[in-house]
Amino acid sequence: MRPVSRAYPATARLYSSSASEEKDLVVIGGGPGGYVAAIKAAQLGLKTACVERRGALGGTCLNVGCIPSKSLLHNTHLLHQAQHEFKKRGIEVGEVRANLEQMMKQKEAAVNALTRGVEGLLKKNKVDYVKGHGRIVSANEVEVDGLDGKKQTLRTKNILIATGSEPTPFPGMEIDEKQIVTSTGALSLTEVPKKMIVIGGGVIGLELGSVWNRLGAEVTVVEYMDAIGAGMDGTMAKQFHKLLAKQGMKFKLGTKVVGSSKEDGRVKVHVESAKGGASETLEADVVLLSVGRRPVTDNLGLESVGIELDERGRVKIDQEFRTQHPNIRCVGDVTYGPMLAHKAEEEGIAAVEYFAGAHGHVNYDVIPSVIYTHPEVAWCGKTEEQVKASGIKYKVGTFPFLANSRAKTNDDTDGMVKVIADAETDRMLGAHIIGPNAGEMIAEAVLAMEYGASSEDVARTCHAHPTLSEAFKEACLATYDKSINF
Ligand SMILES: Cc1cc2nc3c(=O)[nH]c(=O)nc-3n(C[C@H](O)[C@H](O)[C@H](O)COP(=O)(O)OP(=O)(O)OC[C@H]3O[C@@H](n4cnc5c(N)ncnc54)[C@H](O)[C@@H]3O)c2cc1C
Repeated sequence: MRPVSRAYPATARLYSSSASEEKDLVVIGGGPGGYVAAIKAAQLGLKTACVERRGALGGTCLNVGCIPSKSLLHNTHLLHQAQHEFKKRGIEVGEVRANLEQMMKQKEAAVNALTRGVEGLLKKNKVDYVKGHGRIVSANEVEVDGLDGKKQTLRTKNILIATGSEPTPFPGMEIDEKQIVTSTGALSLTEVPKKMIVIGGGVIGLELGSVWNRLGAEVTVVEYMDAIGAGMDGTMAKQFHKLLAKQGMKFKLGTKVVGSSKEDGRVKVHVESAKGGASETLEADVVLLSVGRRPVTDNLGLESVGIELDERGRVKIDQEFRTQHPNIRCVGDVTYGPMLAHKAEEEGIAAVEYFAGAHGHVNYDVIPSVIYTHPEVAWCGKTEEQVKASGIKYKVGTFPFLANSRAKTNDDTDGMVKVIADAETDRMLGAHIIGPNAGEMIAEAVLAMEYGASSEDVARTCHAHPTLSEAFKEACLATYDKSINF
Protein backbone atom coordinates (compact mmCIF):
# COMPACT_ATOMS: atom_id res chain seq x y z
CA MET A 1 0.00 0.00 0.00
CA ARG A 2 1.02 3.59 -0.49
CA PRO A 3 2.89 5.32 2.32
CA VAL A 4 0.96 7.90 4.26
CA SER A 5 3.50 10.69 4.16
CA ARG A 6 3.29 12.90 1.09
CA ALA A 7 4.63 16.00 2.83
CA TYR A 8 6.85 18.07 0.59
CA PRO A 9 9.02 20.96 1.72
CA ALA A 10 6.89 24.03 2.26
CA THR A 11 9.22 26.01 0.01
CA ALA A 12 8.18 23.98 -3.02
CA ARG A 13 7.81 26.30 -5.99
CA LEU A 14 9.21 26.56 -9.49
CA TYR A 15 12.66 28.02 -9.92
CA SER A 16 14.10 29.34 -13.10
CA SER A 17 17.77 28.42 -13.10
CA SER A 18 20.75 29.25 -15.24
CA ALA A 19 23.21 26.61 -16.40
CA SER A 20 26.10 27.98 -14.31
CA GLU A 21 24.44 28.09 -10.87
CA GLU A 22 24.45 25.08 -8.59
CA LYS A 23 21.54 22.73 -9.19
CA ASP A 24 19.60 20.79 -6.59
CA LEU A 25 19.42 17.86 -8.99
CA VAL A 26 21.07 16.77 -12.22
CA VAL A 27 19.34 13.86 -13.95
CA ILE A 28 21.47 11.88 -16.40
CA GLY A 29 19.22 10.37 -19.08
CA GLY A 30 16.03 11.77 -20.58
CA GLY A 31 14.00 8.53 -20.88
CA PRO A 32 10.79 7.75 -18.97
CA GLY A 33 12.76 7.32 -15.74
CA GLY A 34 14.80 10.50 -16.18
CA TYR A 35 12.44 13.02 -17.74
CA VAL A 36 9.54 12.16 -15.44
CA ALA A 37 11.86 12.47 -12.43
CA ALA A 38 13.15 15.84 -13.71
CA ILE A 39 9.63 17.24 -14.09
CA LYS A 40 8.57 15.97 -10.67
CA ALA A 41 11.73 17.41 -9.09
CA ALA A 42 11.04 20.82 -10.60
CA GLN A 43 7.43 20.61 -9.43
CA LEU A 44 8.76 19.95 -5.93
CA GLY A 45 10.85 23.10 -6.12
CA LEU A 46 14.25 21.61 -6.95
CA LYS A 47 16.46 23.45 -9.43
CA THR A 48 16.84 20.67 -11.97
CA ALA A 49 18.77 19.87 -15.14
CA CYS A 50 18.25 16.83 -17.36
CA VAL A 51 21.20 15.68 -19.48
CA GLU A 52 20.42 13.62 -22.59
CA ARG A 53 22.88 12.61 -25.31
CA ARG A 54 20.48 11.21 -27.93
CA GLY A 55 19.45 14.58 -29.35
CA ALA A 56 15.83 13.84 -28.46
CA LEU A 57 14.04 13.27 -25.18
CA GLY A 58 11.92 10.23 -24.28
CA GLY A 59 14.71 7.65 -24.21
CA THR A 60 14.41 4.17 -25.64
CA CYS A 61 10.66 4.21 -25.02
CA LEU A 62 9.69 7.13 -27.23
CA ASN A 63 12.46 6.90 -29.81
CA VAL A 64 13.10 3.21 -30.46
CA GLY A 65 10.85 1.26 -28.09
CA CYS A 66 7.28 1.39 -26.82
CA ILE A 67 5.99 4.14 -29.09
CA PRO A 68 7.30 3.21 -32.56
CA SER A 69 6.58 -0.48 -31.93
CA LYS A 70 2.99 0.25 -30.89
CA SER A 71 2.51 2.44 -33.95
CA LEU A 72 3.56 -0.42 -36.23
CA LEU A 73 1.54 -2.94 -34.23
CA HIS A 74 -1.60 -0.82 -34.45
CA ASN A 75 -1.31 -0.06 -38.16
CA THR A 76 -0.41 -3.61 -39.18
CA HIS A 77 -3.38 -4.86 -37.14
CA LEU A 78 -5.64 -2.53 -39.11
CA LEU A 79 -4.04 -3.81 -42.31
CA HIS A 80 -4.63 -7.39 -41.24
CA GLN A 81 -8.27 -6.63 -40.46
CA ALA A 82 -8.78 -4.87 -43.78
CA GLN A 83 -7.20 -7.74 -45.68
CA HIS A 84 -8.62 -10.69 -43.81
CA GLU A 85 -11.64 -9.65 -41.77
CA PHE A 86 -13.47 -6.75 -43.40
CA LYS A 87 -15.27 -8.94 -45.92
CA LYS A 88 -16.88 -11.21 -43.35
CA ARG A 89 -17.84 -8.11 -41.34
CA GLY A 90 -19.74 -6.80 -44.36
CA ILE A 91 -17.24 -4.16 -45.37
CA GLU A 92 -16.35 -4.26 -49.04
CA VAL A 93 -13.15 -2.49 -50.06
CA GLY A 94 -10.93 -2.75 -53.10
CA GLU A 95 -7.47 -4.24 -52.97
CA VAL A 96 -5.78 -3.37 -49.67
CA ARG A 97 -2.00 -3.10 -49.73
CA ALA A 98 0.61 -1.96 -47.24
CA ASN A 99 2.50 1.24 -48.00
CA LEU A 100 5.52 0.63 -45.81
CA GLU A 101 7.06 4.02 -46.44
CA GLN A 102 3.89 5.79 -45.30
CA MET A 103 3.54 3.47 -42.31
CA MET A 104 7.07 4.38 -41.24
CA LYS A 105 6.34 8.08 -41.80
CA GLN A 106 3.29 7.88 -39.59
CA LYS A 107 5.35 6.12 -36.92
CA GLU A 108 8.01 8.87 -37.13
CA ALA A 109 5.35 11.55 -36.85
CA ALA A 110 4.06 10.00 -33.61
CA VAL A 111 7.60 9.70 -32.23
CA ASN A 112 8.51 13.29 -33.15
CA ALA A 113 5.32 14.76 -31.74
CA LEU A 114 5.83 12.93 -28.45
CA THR A 115 9.56 13.68 -28.06
CA ARG A 116 8.93 17.36 -28.82
CA GLY A 117 6.06 17.25 -26.36
CA VAL A 118 8.45 16.07 -23.63
CA GLU A 119 10.82 18.91 -24.50
CA GLY A 120 7.88 21.30 -24.08
CA LEU A 121 7.05 19.75 -20.71
CA LEU A 122 10.62 20.26 -19.46
CA LYS A 123 10.46 23.87 -20.58
CA LYS A 124 7.07 24.41 -18.98
CA ASN A 125 8.38 23.06 -15.69
CA LYS A 126 11.61 25.08 -15.97
CA VAL A 127 13.93 22.07 -16.16
CA ASP A 128 17.21 22.85 -17.95
CA TYR A 129 17.52 20.43 -20.87
CA VAL A 130 21.25 19.91 -21.43
CA LYS A 131 22.05 18.15 -24.70
CA GLY A 132 25.13 15.96 -24.45
CA HIS A 133 26.85 13.05 -22.78
CA GLY A 134 26.91 13.30 -18.99
CA ARG A 135 29.69 11.90 -16.85
CA ILE A 136 29.92 11.98 -13.05
CA VAL A 137 33.27 13.47 -12.05
CA SER A 138 32.57 13.86 -8.34
CA ALA A 139 29.60 13.33 -6.05
CA ASN A 140 28.59 16.94 -6.81
CA GLU A 141 29.67 17.45 -10.40
CA VAL A 142 28.51 16.19 -13.77
CA GLU A 143 30.65 16.98 -16.78
CA VAL A 144 28.78 17.26 -20.07
CA ASP A 145 30.29 16.79 -23.53
CA GLY A 146 27.75 18.90 -25.38
CA LEU A 147 26.29 17.80 -28.71
CA ASP A 148 27.44 21.26 -29.89
CA GLY A 149 31.06 20.26 -29.15
CA LYS A 150 31.29 22.38 -25.99
CA LYS A 151 32.13 21.03 -22.54
CA GLN A 152 30.53 22.22 -19.30
CA THR A 153 30.48 21.13 -15.69
CA LEU A 154 27.20 21.16 -13.80
CA ARG A 155 27.53 21.61 -10.04
CA THR A 156 24.76 19.92 -8.11
CA LYS A 157 23.62 18.80 -4.68
CA ASN A 158 22.15 15.55 -6.02
CA ILE A 159 22.45 13.30 -9.07
CA LEU A 160 19.94 10.83 -10.52
CA ILE A 161 21.28 8.15 -12.87
CA ALA A 162 18.63 7.11 -15.42
CA THR A 163 20.77 6.00 -18.35
CA GLY A 164 18.57 3.07 -19.40
CA SER A 165 19.42 0.01 -21.42
CA GLU A 166 20.40 -1.19 -24.89
CA PRO A 167 19.96 -4.47 -26.79
CA THR A 168 22.21 -7.28 -25.62
CA PRO A 169 24.40 -8.42 -28.50
CA PHE A 170 24.54 -12.09 -29.50
CA PRO A 171 27.98 -13.70 -29.54
CA GLY A 172 29.22 -14.29 -33.08
CA MET A 173 26.51 -12.23 -34.80
CA GLU A 174 27.50 -8.84 -36.08
CA ILE A 175 24.66 -6.34 -35.95
CA ASP A 176 24.38 -4.18 -39.09
CA GLU A 177 20.77 -3.04 -38.39
CA LYS A 178 19.85 -4.04 -41.97
CA GLN A 179 20.10 -7.81 -42.14
CA ILE A 180 21.07 -8.71 -38.62
CA VAL A 181 19.02 -6.27 -36.62
CA THR A 182 18.12 -5.39 -33.05
CA SER A 183 14.69 -4.02 -32.24
CA THR A 184 15.93 -0.63 -33.43
CA GLY A 185 16.60 -1.91 -36.96
CA ALA A 186 13.42 -3.99 -36.96
CA LEU A 187 11.41 -0.80 -36.42
CA SER A 188 12.78 0.75 -39.60
CA LEU A 189 13.21 -1.93 -42.27
CA THR A 190 12.67 -0.45 -45.71
CA GLU A 191 11.14 -3.57 -47.21
CA VAL A 192 9.29 -6.60 -45.99
CA PRO A 193 11.69 -9.55 -45.73
CA LYS A 194 10.50 -12.79 -47.27
CA LYS A 195 11.78 -14.72 -44.31
CA MET A 196 12.61 -13.44 -40.86
CA ILE A 197 14.15 -15.30 -37.96
CA VAL A 198 13.51 -13.88 -34.52
CA ILE A 199 16.02 -15.04 -31.95
CA GLY A 200 14.29 -14.82 -28.56
CA GLY A 201 10.59 -15.37 -27.87
CA GLY A 202 10.19 -12.62 -25.26
CA VAL A 203 7.95 -9.57 -25.42
CA ILE A 204 9.95 -7.55 -27.96
CA GLY A 205 10.58 -10.51 -30.29
CA LEU A 206 6.91 -11.50 -30.32
CA GLU A 207 5.65 -7.96 -30.88
CA LEU A 208 8.01 -7.21 -33.74
CA GLY A 209 7.68 -10.74 -35.14
CA SER A 210 3.92 -10.09 -35.22
CA VAL A 211 4.39 -6.81 -37.08
CA TRP A 212 6.44 -8.38 -39.87
CA ASN A 213 4.27 -11.50 -39.98
CA ARG A 214 1.23 -9.29 -40.65
CA LEU A 215 3.17 -7.46 -43.33
CA GLY A 216 3.77 -10.75 -45.12
CA ALA A 217 7.11 -12.08 -43.86
CA GLU A 218 7.43 -15.75 -42.97
CA VAL A 219 8.51 -15.44 -39.35
CA THR A 220 10.21 -18.15 -37.31
CA VAL A 221 10.86 -17.54 -33.63
CA VAL A 222 13.75 -19.47 -32.11
CA GLU A 223 13.53 -19.69 -28.33
CA TYR A 224 15.90 -21.44 -25.93
CA MET A 225 13.23 -22.08 -23.30
CA ASP A 226 10.32 -24.50 -23.79
CA ALA A 227 7.78 -21.67 -23.69
CA ILE A 228 7.38 -18.19 -25.15
CA GLY A 229 6.51 -15.01 -23.26
CA ALA A 230 9.41 -14.43 -20.88
CA GLY A 231 8.09 -15.97 -17.68
CA MET A 232 4.36 -15.38 -18.15
CA ASP A 233 1.86 -17.77 -16.53
CA GLY A 234 2.25 -21.27 -18.00
CA THR A 235 -1.38 -21.82 -19.09
CA MET A 236 -1.50 -18.41 -20.71
CA ALA A 237 1.86 -18.92 -22.48
CA LYS A 238 0.56 -22.14 -24.06
CA GLN A 239 -2.63 -20.50 -25.25
CA PHE A 240 -0.74 -17.46 -26.56
CA HIS A 241 1.67 -19.74 -28.44
CA LYS A 242 -1.27 -21.47 -30.15
CA LEU A 243 -2.88 -18.17 -31.12
CA LEU A 244 0.31 -16.79 -32.67
CA ALA A 245 0.87 -20.09 -34.50
CA LYS A 246 -2.69 -19.82 -35.88
CA GLN A 247 -1.71 -16.39 -37.22
CA GLY A 248 1.13 -18.00 -39.18
CA MET A 249 4.13 -17.50 -36.92
CA LYS A 250 6.41 -20.51 -36.64
CA PHE A 251 8.16 -21.49 -33.43
CA LYS A 252 11.23 -23.51 -32.57
CA LEU A 253 11.14 -23.83 -28.80
CA GLY A 254 13.80 -25.53 -26.69
CA THR A 255 16.22 -24.57 -29.43
CA LYS A 256 19.55 -22.80 -29.17
CA VAL A 257 21.40 -20.81 -31.79
CA VAL A 258 24.95 -22.07 -32.11
CA GLY A 259 26.26 -19.90 -34.95
CA SER A 260 25.48 -17.98 -38.08
CA SER A 261 26.95 -17.07 -41.43
CA LYS A 262 26.09 -14.83 -44.36
CA GLU A 263 25.82 -16.36 -47.82
CA ASP A 264 24.45 -14.95 -51.10
CA GLY A 265 22.85 -12.04 -49.32
CA ARG A 266 21.04 -14.25 -46.85
CA VAL A 267 21.74 -15.16 -43.24
CA LYS A 268 22.12 -18.76 -42.19
CA VAL A 269 21.40 -19.49 -38.57
CA HIS A 270 22.66 -22.76 -37.15
CA VAL A 271 20.51 -24.16 -34.36
CA GLU A 272 20.30 -27.27 -32.24
CA SER A 273 18.07 -28.63 -29.52
CA ALA A 274 18.76 -26.88 -26.20
CA LYS A 275 19.01 -30.32 -24.61
CA GLY A 276 21.60 -31.33 -27.22
CA GLY A 277 20.90 -33.25 -30.40
CA ALA A 278 20.71 -32.90 -34.16
CA SER A 279 21.56 -29.50 -35.56
CA GLU A 280 19.73 -27.68 -38.32
CA THR A 281 20.35 -24.62 -40.47
CA LEU A 282 17.64 -22.01 -40.94
CA GLU A 283 17.82 -19.29 -43.58
CA ALA A 284 16.40 -15.81 -43.58
CA ASP A 285 16.64 -12.42 -45.24
CA VAL A 286 16.57 -10.66 -41.89
CA VAL A 287 17.46 -11.90 -38.42
CA LEU A 288 16.08 -10.03 -35.41
CA LEU A 289 18.13 -10.42 -32.25
CA SER A 290 15.88 -10.00 -29.25
CA VAL A 291 17.61 -11.87 -26.49
CA GLY A 292 17.29 -9.18 -23.85
CA ARG A 293 18.65 -5.77 -22.92
CA ARG A 294 21.62 -4.70 -20.84
CA PRO A 295 22.19 -1.62 -18.67
CA VAL A 296 23.94 1.43 -20.18
CA THR A 297 26.81 2.79 -18.05
CA ASP A 298 29.48 3.53 -20.66
CA ASN A 299 31.79 6.44 -19.81
CA LEU A 300 29.44 7.46 -16.99
CA GLY A 301 32.26 7.99 -14.49
CA LEU A 302 30.84 5.56 -11.93
CA GLU A 303 34.28 4.27 -11.03
CA SER A 304 35.46 7.81 -10.26
CA VAL A 305 33.01 7.95 -7.35
CA GLY A 306 33.15 4.27 -6.41
CA ILE A 307 29.65 3.30 -7.56
CA GLU A 308 29.46 -0.45 -8.05
CA LEU A 309 27.67 -2.62 -10.60
CA ASP A 310 26.28 -6.09 -9.95
CA GLU A 311 27.23 -9.19 -11.97
CA ARG A 312 24.73 -8.19 -14.70
CA GLY A 313 26.13 -4.67 -15.04
CA ARG A 314 23.24 -3.04 -13.14
CA VAL A 315 23.93 -0.11 -10.82
CA LYS A 316 23.72 -1.32 -7.22
CA ILE A 317 21.15 0.55 -5.15
CA ASP A 318 19.34 0.19 -1.83
CA GLN A 319 15.57 0.27 -1.24
CA GLU A 320 15.54 4.05 -1.46
CA PHE A 321 17.33 4.02 -4.86
CA ARG A 322 20.61 5.21 -3.25
CA THR A 323 23.95 4.18 -4.66
CA GLN A 324 26.99 4.08 -2.38
CA HIS A 325 26.61 7.88 -2.33
CA PRO A 326 23.45 8.97 -0.52
CA ASN A 327 23.07 11.97 -2.85
CA ILE A 328 23.35 9.84 -6.01
CA ARG A 329 20.31 7.69 -6.74
CA CYS A 330 19.47 5.52 -9.73
CA VAL A 331 16.25 4.37 -11.43
CA GLY A 332 14.89 2.55 -14.48
CA ASP A 333 16.39 -0.03 -16.79
CA VAL A 334 19.95 0.65 -15.63
CA THR A 335 19.22 -0.87 -12.24
CA TYR A 336 17.23 -3.83 -10.84
CA GLY A 337 13.72 -4.90 -11.80
CA PRO A 338 11.67 -5.34 -14.94
CA MET A 339 12.75 -3.21 -17.89
CA LEU A 340 9.49 -1.33 -18.37
CA ALA A 341 8.78 2.33 -19.02
CA HIS A 342 6.07 2.61 -16.35
CA LYS A 343 8.33 0.98 -13.76
CA ALA A 344 11.08 3.51 -14.61
CA GLU A 345 8.58 6.37 -14.26
CA GLU A 346 7.31 5.20 -10.87
CA GLU A 347 10.88 4.88 -9.65
CA GLY A 348 11.79 8.32 -11.00
CA ILE A 349 8.97 9.90 -9.01
CA ALA A 350 9.79 7.96 -5.84
CA ALA A 351 13.52 8.73 -6.00
CA VAL A 352 12.83 12.43 -6.43
CA GLU A 353 10.42 12.39 -3.51
CA TYR A 354 13.28 11.10 -1.38
CA PHE A 355 15.55 13.86 -2.72
CA ALA A 356 12.90 16.38 -1.74
CA GLY A 357 12.88 15.09 1.82
CA ALA A 358 9.63 13.15 1.53
CA HIS A 359 8.96 9.43 1.20
CA GLY A 360 8.86 7.54 -2.11
CA HIS A 361 7.33 4.16 -2.82
CA VAL A 362 6.98 1.67 -5.68
CA ASN A 363 4.91 -1.49 -5.22
CA TYR A 364 6.91 -4.02 -7.22
CA ASP A 365 4.28 -6.72 -6.58
CA VAL A 366 1.80 -5.13 -8.96
CA ILE A 367 3.67 -3.81 -11.96
CA PRO A 368 1.67 -4.74 -15.05
CA SER A 369 3.24 -6.38 -18.10
CA VAL A 370 1.64 -6.14 -21.54
CA ILE A 371 2.39 -7.72 -24.90
CA TYR A 372 0.72 -5.61 -27.59
CA THR A 373 0.06 -8.34 -30.14
CA HIS A 374 -3.46 -9.19 -31.19
CA PRO A 375 -4.96 -10.40 -29.01
CA GLU A 376 -3.02 -8.57 -26.34
CA VAL A 377 -1.57 -10.33 -23.33
CA ALA A 378 -1.44 -8.62 -19.95
CA TRP A 379 -0.75 -9.69 -16.43
CA CYS A 380 0.17 -8.51 -12.99
CA GLY A 381 0.99 -10.14 -9.70
CA LYS A 382 2.01 -13.77 -9.46
CA THR A 383 1.82 -16.56 -12.01
CA GLU A 384 0.25 -19.86 -10.96
CA GLU A 385 3.72 -21.42 -10.99
CA GLN A 386 5.01 -18.78 -8.56
CA VAL A 387 2.04 -19.16 -6.22
CA LYS A 388 2.40 -22.94 -6.26
CA ALA A 389 6.12 -22.69 -5.51
CA SER A 390 5.43 -20.35 -2.57
CA GLY A 391 3.30 -23.05 -0.92
CA ILE A 392 0.25 -20.78 -0.50
CA LYS A 393 -3.11 -22.55 -0.94
CA TYR A 394 -4.82 -20.88 -3.86
CA LYS A 395 -7.83 -21.02 -6.13
CA VAL A 396 -8.18 -20.12 -9.78
CA GLY A 397 -11.09 -18.71 -11.75
CA THR A 398 -11.16 -18.39 -15.52
CA PHE A 399 -13.51 -16.95 -18.10
CA PRO A 400 -13.18 -17.22 -21.91
CA PHE A 401 -13.83 -14.22 -24.18
CA LEU A 402 -15.90 -16.62 -26.29
CA ALA A 403 -18.59 -16.23 -23.61
CA ASN A 404 -18.27 -12.42 -23.35
CA SER A 405 -21.03 -10.58 -25.16
CA ARG A 406 -18.89 -7.64 -26.33
CA ALA A 407 -16.13 -9.91 -27.67
CA LYS A 408 -18.80 -11.95 -29.46
CA THR A 409 -20.39 -8.79 -30.90
CA ASN A 410 -16.98 -7.64 -32.10
CA ASP A 411 -16.22 -11.12 -33.46
CA ASP A 412 -12.98 -11.01 -31.51
CA THR A 413 -13.23 -13.88 -29.07
CA ASP A 414 -9.73 -15.35 -28.77
CA GLY A 415 -8.37 -15.51 -25.24
CA MET A 416 -9.42 -15.71 -21.63
CA VAL A 417 -9.05 -14.19 -18.18
CA LYS A 418 -7.45 -16.11 -15.33
CA VAL A 419 -7.53 -14.89 -11.74
CA ILE A 420 -5.57 -16.43 -8.89
CA ALA A 421 -6.57 -15.76 -5.28
CA ASP A 422 -5.54 -16.92 -1.83
CA ALA A 423 -7.74 -19.91 -0.92
CA GLU A 424 -8.25 -18.71 2.64
CA THR A 425 -8.52 -14.94 2.39
CA ASP A 426 -9.64 -14.66 -1.27
CA ARG A 427 -7.10 -11.82 -1.69
CA MET A 428 -6.19 -11.53 -5.35
CA LEU A 429 -2.63 -12.73 -6.02
CA GLY A 430 -2.42 -12.60 -9.79
CA ALA A 431 -4.44 -11.65 -12.87
CA HIS A 432 -3.69 -12.85 -16.40
CA ILE A 433 -5.53 -11.82 -19.53
CA ILE A 434 -5.22 -12.78 -23.18
CA GLY A 435 -7.75 -10.90 -25.20
CA PRO A 436 -8.71 -7.78 -27.10
CA ASN A 437 -7.70 -4.69 -25.09
CA ALA A 438 -6.07 -6.77 -22.34
CA GLY A 439 -3.50 -3.97 -21.92
CA GLU A 440 -6.24 -1.53 -20.90
CA MET A 441 -8.21 -4.06 -18.87
CA ILE A 442 -5.24 -5.01 -16.69
CA ALA A 443 -5.46 -1.57 -15.02
CA GLU A 444 -8.53 -2.80 -13.15
CA ALA A 445 -6.62 -5.77 -11.79
CA VAL A 446 -3.65 -3.58 -10.84
CA LEU A 447 -5.90 -1.19 -8.95
CA ALA A 448 -7.72 -4.06 -7.23
CA MET A 449 -4.45 -5.65 -6.16
CA GLU A 450 -2.94 -2.32 -5.08
CA TYR A 451 -5.88 -1.94 -2.71
CA GLY A 452 -5.65 -5.56 -1.55
CA ALA A 453 -9.02 -6.51 -3.04
CA SER A 454 -10.48 -10.00 -2.93
CA SER A 455 -11.87 -11.66 -6.05
CA GLU A 456 -15.32 -11.23 -4.46
CA ASP A 457 -14.74 -7.45 -4.13
CA VAL A 458 -14.30 -7.20 -7.90
CA ALA A 459 -17.05 -9.67 -8.73
CA ARG A 460 -19.52 -7.64 -6.67
CA THR A 461 -18.50 -4.39 -8.38
CA CYS A 462 -20.93 -3.34 -11.11
CA HIS A 463 -19.33 -3.48 -14.58
CA ALA A 464 -20.94 -1.84 -17.61
CA HIS A 465 -22.62 -4.09 -20.16
CA PRO A 466 -21.68 -5.00 -22.84
CA THR A 467 -17.96 -4.56 -22.17
CA LEU A 468 -14.88 -6.74 -22.33
CA SER A 469 -14.27 -5.93 -18.67
CA GLU A 470 -17.24 -8.12 -17.76
CA ALA A 471 -14.94 -11.05 -18.57
CA PHE A 472 -12.70 -9.94 -15.73
CA LYS A 473 -15.66 -9.66 -13.37
CA GLU A 474 -16.83 -13.15 -14.43
CA ALA A 475 -13.35 -14.64 -13.88
CA CYS A 476 -13.43 -13.14 -10.37
CA LEU A 477 -16.88 -14.63 -9.84
CA ALA A 478 -15.50 -17.99 -10.95
CA THR A 479 -12.64 -17.60 -8.47
CA TYR A 480 -14.74 -17.23 -5.33
CA ASP A 481 -17.94 -18.88 -6.56
CA LYS A 482 -19.25 -19.73 -10.05
CA SER A 483 -19.42 -17.62 -13.18
CA ILE A 484 -22.89 -16.78 -14.46
CA ASN A 485 -22.36 -16.64 -18.21
CA PHE A 486 -20.19 -19.70 -18.76
C1 LIG B 1 11.19 -2.34 -29.06
C2 LIG B 1 10.88 -2.02 -27.63
C3 LIG B 1 9.57 -1.96 -27.22
C4 LIG B 1 9.27 -1.65 -25.90
N1 LIG B 1 7.97 -1.60 -25.53
C5 LIG B 1 7.64 -1.29 -24.25
C6 LIG B 1 6.29 -1.17 -23.86
O1 LIG B 1 5.38 -1.35 -24.65
N2 LIG B 1 6.02 -0.85 -22.58
C7 LIG B 1 7.02 -0.65 -21.65
O2 LIG B 1 6.74 -0.35 -20.49
N3 LIG B 1 8.32 -0.74 -22.00
C8 LIG B 1 8.65 -1.05 -23.28
N4 LIG B 1 9.97 -1.12 -23.65
C9 LIG B 1 10.99 -0.88 -22.60
C10 LIG B 1 11.13 0.62 -22.32
O3 LIG B 1 11.48 1.28 -23.50
C11 LIG B 1 12.20 0.85 -21.26
O4 LIG B 1 11.91 0.06 -20.12
C12 LIG B 1 12.25 2.29 -20.83
O5 LIG B 1 12.55 3.12 -21.92
C13 LIG B 1 13.30 2.48 -19.74
O6 LIG B 1 13.36 3.82 -19.37
P1 LIG B 1 14.71 4.46 -18.78
O7 LIG B 1 14.39 5.89 -18.54
O8 LIG B 1 15.19 3.64 -17.65
O9 LIG B 1 15.79 4.29 -19.91
P2 LIG B 1 15.83 4.73 -21.48
O10 LIG B 1 14.46 4.89 -22.01
O11 LIG B 1 16.72 3.74 -22.10
O12 LIG B 1 16.47 6.16 -21.42
C14 LIG B 1 17.78 6.39 -21.04
C15 LIG B 1 18.31 7.59 -21.78
O13 LIG B 1 19.59 7.94 -21.22
C16 LIG B 1 20.42 8.39 -22.25
N5 LIG B 1 21.81 8.26 -21.79
C17 LIG B 1 22.50 7.12 -21.53
N6 LIG B 1 23.72 7.41 -21.05
C18 LIG B 1 23.81 8.76 -21.02
C19 LIG B 1 24.82 9.67 -20.63
N7 LIG B 1 25.97 9.24 -20.11
N8 LIG B 1 24.59 10.99 -20.76
C20 LIG B 1 23.40 11.46 -21.26
N9 LIG B 1 22.41 10.65 -21.64
C21 LIG B 1 22.61 9.31 -21.51
C22 LIG B 1 20.08 7.53 -23.43
O14 LIG B 1 20.41 8.19 -24.64
C23 LIG B 1 18.57 7.34 -23.26
O15 LIG B 1 17.84 8.25 -24.04
C24 LIG B 1 10.30 -1.40 -24.97
C25 LIG B 1 11.64 -1.43 -25.38
C26 LIG B 1 11.92 -1.74 -26.70
C27 LIG B 1 13.34 -1.77 -27.13
